[in-house]
Amino acid sequence: MKRKPTPPPPGRTPADPSQWSESSQGSVAAYFTTEYVDEPYKCWHCGADATFTAVDQKYTYEVRKANVNQSRRLCEPCWRESLRIAKELGSQANTWEASKKTLKTDKTFLSNWLMLLELQETYVPYRYDVARKNMLRKLLNGGA
Ligand SMILES: [Zn+2]
Repeated sequence: MKRKPTPPPPGRTPADPSQWSESSQGSVAAYFTTEYVDEPYKCWHCGADATFTAVDQKYTYEVRKANVNQSRRLCEPCWRESLRIAKELGSQANTWEASKKTLKTDKTFLSNWLMLLELQETYVPYRYDVARKNMLRKLLNGGA
């Protein structure tokens, strides 16, 4: 294991659990959290070292009201890329709903969609859309 020469001291910020979402306030963490501390992690997608900073945590839990049990998995650039993929997948699904009949035989559309779904799985370690992928594979292999 490599050690960094002089790691900066972790950032700390006082916490105010009364600002958390209702479900977060009901969690055990609400009783003992008095401050946020920088939390280092490895990006699940690219393996880069990243930090969920104390200030970022305060914003995430107290302003955005995210659940306190949520931790970070992706570094900033990968997170933005995963949002872009999710958005593109959303519009892909809308396009599909609007014109299934013609898109059913559109190999370019279908394979692009399948590729996006597979790409998303490298960013998000949950919510695999197995049913959708099977449908796309079937359409791509068997035509209409
Ligand atoms: Zn990353």
